[in-house]
Amino acid sequence: MSLISDKYHEERLKQYNINIKTKYIVGNNILERNTNNSLNDDIKSGIRCSKEYYVNNVLKHTEREFDSRIEYTFMTKGEEYNCPNCGMLLNLSKIEDGCPYCKTHYNIDYVDKDLGSKYHYDHVIHSNVYRIITGIIDIVISFLLSFLFIKSTSRTFNEIDIIKIFVYGIILALLLYYLFYSIDAYIVIGPIKRYKERQNNKQKAFWQKSNIDKRKFFNNFNYEIEKYYYNMDNVIDYDILDYLDFKYFPGNKDCVKVKARIRLIYYVDHKIVSKTSTATYTLFKNNDGVTKLDDGINIIMCPNCGASIDASAGECAYCHTKINYLQEWILKQKN
Ligand SMILES: [Zn+2]
Ligand SMILES: [Zn+2]
Repeated sequence: MSLISDKYHEERLKQYNINIKTKYIVGNNILERNTNNSLNDDIKSGIRCSKEYYVNNVLKHTEREFDSRIEYTFMTKGEEYNCPNCGMLLNLSKIEDGCPYCKTHYNIDYVDKDLGSKYHYDHVIHSNVYRIITGIIDIVISFLLSFLFIKSTSRTFNEIDIIKIFVYGIILALLLYYLFYSIDAYIVIGPIKRYKERQNNKQKAFWQKSNIDKRKFFNNFNYEIEKYYYNMDNVIDYDILDYLDFKYFPGNKDCVKVKARIRLIYYVDHKIVSKTSTATYTLFKNNDGVTKLDDGINIIMCPNCGASIDASAGECAYCHTKINYLQEWILKQKN
């Protein structure tokens, strides 16, 4: 509980000999990062497209659903950089595992896209139920068409005609399957797609109106829920699949409520288990300029003298270097 989340997580994966391979779409390339550090490409504004879970080097589980509005950048070396989570000025040539204060090693960007519903659409359209329903509709209509065709072209109606209906029906069904697949997609998925598109537009309006630093918010949010979930027993990974709603309560409380669909990956009894649920997170704005982290996670290393110090104190107790640790949004509640 008292360790900084990333390190704790890394040790847990090592203990179980698990590697999570995450693939990113960057332009026309597919790049990857591995939690066992076997291969870590530099990612610039990449969209997650798959996660593969290996236990003892054997692929055990794959996930393909992600929110394409979130873009990831992994800090690359050789430049000065403000930590997207805590605001510390970092010299990237000197750091190995991300920010020395909060351990963040990525930068998240939330982009306004019209494709917010695309992955959802893909998900529904690729499901087996959808394929089976389409197949049934396809066969019924194909048989009906071949029956009408035989009925209107042959003068008699005997056993041979029935066999013909059967044969023509099957050939027609095979030929028309893709057409039905596409037409059904339009009819069945249309309402879902329009609903998701409306949600997406509402979120765009939210960010335009609220005046919140969106990039900072998403980095803080991700940092906070990562800490929250990595401290739970058996959780080895999480992903936000869809941001459903944002509500801002300005003024005294100064908080944002985020409703999201989340997928948690557990490692239980040597098995990878995936569970999806909906949760609401309340984040408060830290207006003091100094972070208030939970007990035990406040300890950071002083950038000047290397001593272990309290991040919320504002300055190093030993050499009095100012610690400008500015995490803006802090998770206060999850339900
Ligand atoms: Zn940081
Ligand atoms: Zn110091």
